[in-house]
Amino acid sequence: MRIDSHCHVDLYPDPHAVLANLEKDRVLTISMTNLPSHFEMGLPHLKGCRWVRPALGLHPSEVSKHSKSTLANELRRFERSLPLTSWIGEVGLDGRREYRESRHEQTLAFGQIVAQIRALGDAKVMSIHSAGAVREVLDAIRAVGEVIPILHRFTGSHDELQAAVSTGCWFSVNPAMMRSSAGRARIEAMPRSRILTESDGPFVRIGDRAVVPADTDLVLEQLARMWGQDPSEVAAKVRANFNEMAQGLRHEVR
Ligand code: MN
Repeated sequence: MRIDSHCHVDLYPDPHAVLANLEKDRVLTISMTNLPSHFEMGLPHLKGCRWVRPALGLHPSEVSKHSKSTLANELRRFERSLPLTSWIGEVGLDGRREYRESRHEQTLAFGQIVAQIRALGDAKVMSIHSAGAVREVLDAIRAVGEVIPILHRFTGSHDELQAAVSTGCWFSVNPAMMRSSAGRARIEAMPRSRILTESDGPFVRIGDRAVVPADTDLVLEQLARMWGQDPSEVAAKVRANFNEMAQGLRHEVR
């Protein structure tokens, strides 16, 4: 079994082909959604998939694309679907310049998501986008209580990394992060016991194709080189990390 903690299965041109392959390759895949309405649409297609966990999300980049009333409707849908899954993602905040105008609305939306999770009181694993907003994301995580946070594609500073570690965050790392020296330096600074693998497909590319869940093998190979270990040892470590992380779920709804 391999682990893809963050993949947007519904955003590939042919999601069914991606599903068939990850089932064949036995890659346990947390399938992100960018809007609650996408989660509702996708859920029936995931029934019968043994290796997929459907995640309920509202991506920060979606906030600026919709009217206030559409967003309010999506947040109601979020609340309605919340009891159906133990997996949340992709959610979070983006503090980078191109999303600055929606910053206030992003904070409101993420705040509502956090409040909904806290009100329900069930432990949830949350795959979080934190580009340019690590401190704010960590504050929100501390407010939820029962959340198991995974910072996906972490791009923060060394101090922010330490703060994330003390807040109990896990880190999912992908092939694109391994390509830059800054990305590799961040990964080297992460505690090995908190590292998970992800593809972030289809947004990460290898040559002229989008990565798929099985490409998390590349991350295992690169971690093996970085750590001076065998890829099979690293694979076992990532599996153990994932199991430890998911242990916090009192009951996995599915
Ligand atoms: Mn993503």
